[in-house]
Amino acid sequence: MSKLRFKAVAAAANRKPVEVEKPKEKTSAYFGNKVFNRKTMIQYLSKATFKAITKVIDKGEVIDRAIAEHVAAGMRMWALENGATHYTHWFHPLTDGTAEKHDAFVEHDGNGGMIEEFSGKILAQQEPDASSFPSGGLRNTFEARGYSAWDPSSPAFIIGDTLCIPTIFISYTGESLDYKTPLLKSISAVSKAAMDVCHYFDPQVSKIYSFLGWEQEYFLVDEDLFAARPDLALTGRTLMSHESAKNQQLEDHYFGSIPQRVLKFMEDLEYQSYELGIPVKTRHNEVAPNQFELAPIYEECNLAVDQNLLIMSLMEKIARSHSFRVLLHEKPFKGINGSGKHNNWSLGTDTGVNLLSPGKDTEENLQFITFIVNILAAVHKNNALLKASISSATNAHRLGANEAPPAIISVFLGTQVSDILDKFESSSVKDAIVVDDKKGISLGVGQIPEILLDNTDRNRTSPFAFTGNRFEFRAVGSSANCASAMTALNASVAEQLRLFKIEVDTLINKGKSKEEALYEVLKKYIKESRVIRFNGNGYSDEWKVEAKKRGLDCETSVPVIYDSYTSKQSIKTFANILSEVELHARNEVKWETYVKKIQIESRVLGDLALNHIIPVAITYQSILLENVANLQKIFTDPAKFQEMAEEQIRLIEKISIHVNAINAKVHGMIDARKKANNIESEREKAIEYHDVVAPFLDEIRYPIDKLELIIDNNMWPLPKYRELLFLR
Ligand code: ADP
Ligand code: MG
Repeated sequence: MSKLRFKAVAAAANRKPVEVEKPKEKTSAYFGNKVFNRKTMIQYLSKATFKAITKVIDKGEVIDRAIAEHVAAGMRMWALENGATHYTHWFHPLTDGTAEKHDAFVEHDGNGGMIEEFSGKILAQQEPDASSFPSGGLRNTFEARGYSAWDPSSPAFIIGDTLCIPTIFISYTGESLDYKTPLLKSISAVSKAAMDVCHYFDPQVSKIYSFLGWEQEYFLVDEDLFAARPDLALTGRTLMSHESAKNQQLEDHYFGSIPQRVLKFMEDLEYQSYELGIPVKTRHNEVAPNQFELAPIYEECNLAVDQNLLIMSLMEKIARSHSFRVLLHEKPFKGINGSGKHNNWSLGTDTGVNLLSPGKDTEENLQFITFIVNILAAVHKNNALLKASISSATNAHRLGANEAPPAIISVFLGTQVSDILDKFESSSVKDAIVVDDKKGISLGVGQIPEILLDNTDRNRTSPFAFTGNRFEFRAVGSSANCASAMTALNASVAEQLRLFKIEVDTLINKGKSKEEALYEVLKKYIKESRVIRFNGNGYSDEWKVEAKKRGLDCETSVPVIYDSYTSKQSIKTFANILSEVELHARNEVKWETYVKKIQIESRVLGDLALNHIIPVAITYQSILLENVANLQKIFTDPAKFQEMAEEQIRLIEKISIHVNAINAKVHGMIDARKKANNIESEREKAIEYHDVVAPFLDEIRYPIDKLELIIDNNMWPLPKYRELLFLR
């Protein structure tokens, strides 16, 4: 009967690990050899060009045409020597993943032959046919022009035979059509604002970096089993299947050794990541069976975002050569943990100081407290926006469920930092801030112990946790582009720091000392932002009630959550990063994407229910019916027959009830979809899909999962959870 499932199970069970050739050199010797980084640039560019381009990168300056010409020449030579035949502008449209259009280096040489060409103009700007990328109406198809423009701050790299040049993607009229443009703007905004505040403490600082270290969670599934699950293949998650008797309850996966086949995949991925300059550091099993995690060493935010996108596509590619499929969906399986992407974020100076790290002495600690308090204030004011920045149809399955951060943003500081803020708030300026002619100003209210870093109590239920020298934004989804969350965070903190500077300067201009001014404003912020601080259990129901009382955003409907992008506060936060027009347009894209995702799930489930599950249920029911008819022939005594056929009759009834329920619900869902599709406004349509269409998915799943427990295992058409999760 279910040939495909059993063939797939047999194939998966017999699979052997794929051996990967270990690089002959040690990692440091080949790290980044497919990247046009500074080390390579020194070799391929003249001294003057190298100096000019590094200045552009470090200072964020606009690149001069002549320099672009020189860089292009060097890049071309390097690329050709490394086997590249094509080049592409590599950008992040507002869809999942990245976009690229490959062009060959060849041009006519004017003498009937060909030469390899690559000019500064081509490096700097391209005009991809952009009409098929979402723009939320910013660019109608008549004016289909969009430009991709080189981002020199993220180095070009070679994948296979193609030189990839990281670019931004903007419309003819200058609006951003991608994730990178606003990210870069938010990075420069926070850098500028943080530097101004830093100068209260250290005038030597001349640049601030925003850092990101992501942790990527994912599942691996054997490719034959994957192919036998149309729902996984088309939607990235299982729309049905009963829980496996054993799943993660023993926690034996997390602490167990990495399965051999998986280890080979991880090694392969690591080698290729190192070549591309991605400093992959940790790999381990995660909580759920067949779930794993990968994390590099943190990098400057823009580069880290690019590397995450790059690694997501590498994972997909490399998984295939190990007969796996990688699942980046936030919730591929019901009943076990989903996948997130923790975004570890911090700010640091060009003098090597981490602004979120308590200093070795008290001097740096006032600066530390200043930044912590401003971040608290920023997260408080923008808690709705930060939630919107991580919200999607897929991440919604994770948020609010009992294993993930709740759909409420709060900050966990740990007891030590909380205590210091409390002390600061309740002491006088003289106690809170110590002024020393030699040492400058420092924190008066107690030392922040050095052990803090190792000691930060880990609150796993917090969506935004301080972990000793950084904040960990844990609500980000595993399939997301980190840029969305990082843009919102950088922008929020930038706006807050600008405001802080204005308030402090105003007090100073009124005649207060710097210490008094800092103290007064910080104290006010500590008070105002108290409600965002939460050290308790974020999963509890009491917290939901409490958070509402505190005025935090508790909205759970994703389409409605997106409204926060265009709130008064968000428009202020995004000043000079995204205009109001752009914010509205981008929301149109978000609503449209939301609708499409639910629509696809709904269609796939309808098809599976009607064409895969119901026919099997009816076939099995017919076997039972036949059995009952035959029993009746043998057991002529009605009482005896009743006794012998009791269980079969009960099953026959149950099957009918479930089949009828599935059938009725699927048709109800189709009608609901038709109605929703007629709605003009993208926002209203998305809300209708959320409120009316999506609930059908669970309602249809329920009777299907019940049928799975009744029907003959030999007949069940789709690989079961125990097969998907334990074969590797
Ligand atoms: P875990 O949270 O599981 O303990 P790690 O300690 O390995 O994980 O760190 C997770 C990520 O945080 C890594 O990518 C690491 O490089 C990054 N990280 C560490 N320090 C910082 C920092 N100051 N700023 C940003 N990211 C950081
Ligand atoms: Mg972590």
